Amino acid sequence: MPELPELEVLRENLENRLKDRVLRELRIRKPYIQKTPQPDDLFPQKVTAVSRRGKYIIIDAERNRFIIHLMLSGRMKLRSSSDPVLKSTAAVFVFCDSFLQLTEEARLKRMSLWIVVSDVKVDDIKPLGPEPLSPDFTPERFSSIISTSRQRLKSFLVNQRNMAGIGNAYADEICWEAGLSPFRQASKLTGEEIERVYAAIGKVLREGISQIRRAAGDSLDIGEKRGFMKVHRRKDEPCPRCGKPIAWVSTTSRNTYYCPGCQTGGKVLKDGRRSRFLK
Ligand SMILES: [Zn+2]
Repeated sequence: MPELPELEVLRENLENRLKDRVLRELRIRKPYIQKTPQPDDLFPQKVTAVSRRGKYIIIDAERNRFIIHLMLSGRMKLRSSSDPVLKSTAAVFVFCDSFLQLTEEARLKRMSLWIVVSDVKVDDIKPLGPEPLSPDFTPERFSSIISTSRQRLKSFLVNQRNMAGIGNAYADEICWEAGLSPFRQASKLTGEEIERVYAAIGKVLREGISQIRRAAGDSLDIGEKRGFMKVHRRKDEPCPRCGKPIAWVSTTSRNTYYCPGCQTGGKVLKDGRRSRFLK
């Protein structure tokens, strides 16, 4: 699933392509995608910006916002008016000489589109925690959120109510960067450990953005080009910090990659589906 770094690069590229274009029509090809009714006076209106909140991409037009969640495998592509519309297309934003096509290949169709008036925020649809790269996400604010959490570190990081935009892959990288077990109890981290996690969040997400930007260029086909990751999906490869093989543990909700050498004090964690006592 695309996370904050992929979606931020998609936002940049989408804004470069769509800003000042006039939206003429919206064709919904798969009704499941549409979460709100289509207002009457929707067209024409000019795209003024493309923004992002957590894992949501927002196409801002003069009167309305189009809030999109790509979920697991939603993709966007800008095509010229003469191109054919693909079968897997869920929605088409029609401009003068081009159209933006939203497709979803996954079996489970979960991509979502909300059409709202301009002052409606994503948080009105789904409450989200702060943006981890925004200036108001200070160490003090982070510390107050994490120190009251009852979750384990990785679950804390991927919970969108704590902060928005981090998912399974970047959470593994953040735990590794901080040198901490993904299964540490968040509220029991020391002040120094909390500082390490805070620094790791900024570093991992910023590095992710610059790597993804380099790999994607100006394309809207961002995919998940994550060859730069240190532990995520790197089972048995040597840890870039201590050389020990990267391990993998499965819990009911997700797979977690970590280094037993520098994150869990040499301890190899048991399969979480069988052990309720991961520490
Ligand atoms: Zn290591």
